[in-house]
Amino acid sequence: MPVDVGFVLNLENAAIESLGDPTSTDDLDDYFETLQFLFSERLILAAFDLIDRESVIRFKTPWGYNQYHVLGSTANYTVFPFRSHHSPTPYCTCPAFTYGVLLSGSEIMCKHLLATMIAIKMSRCIERTLSLNDLAIMASAETGSG
Ligand SMILES: [Zn+2]
Repeated sequence: MPVDVGFVLNLENAAIESLGDPTSTDDLDDYFETLQFLFSERLILAAFDLIDRESVIRFKTPWGYNQYHVLGSTANYTVFPFRSHHSPTPYCTCPAFTYGVLLSGSEIMCKHLLATMIAIKMSRCIERTLSLNDLAIMASAETGSG
């Protein structure tokens, strides 16, 4: 009997979206079981490594919007762990996500996105408040200076 791939994908998507939701389950044991079911041990360990290095930053804007950044070894990435008008699905700006998840479909998650979701769930994000000045600097950095 063939496996219904669409059904499995829907299940995965629903599970992935619930990962970053602090209210989806109170039981962290269940949570880690879900992680192990969905992702490779290598990816989970890489995500926890980022959290242990305090690399998952939650920036709060003056108007109450949260933006997530992960400090990578060579670059910093913006992560959108929730569905929003910015992103129809959870999303990360790193090359691994673009090539592994979006283009080839060989991965369903990158370590930054997973780390952000786990950090939200476990309240392990580093909190920073952004001023309007910070935002202007970030905006000019993201659009390029030239
Ligand atoms: Zn990433």
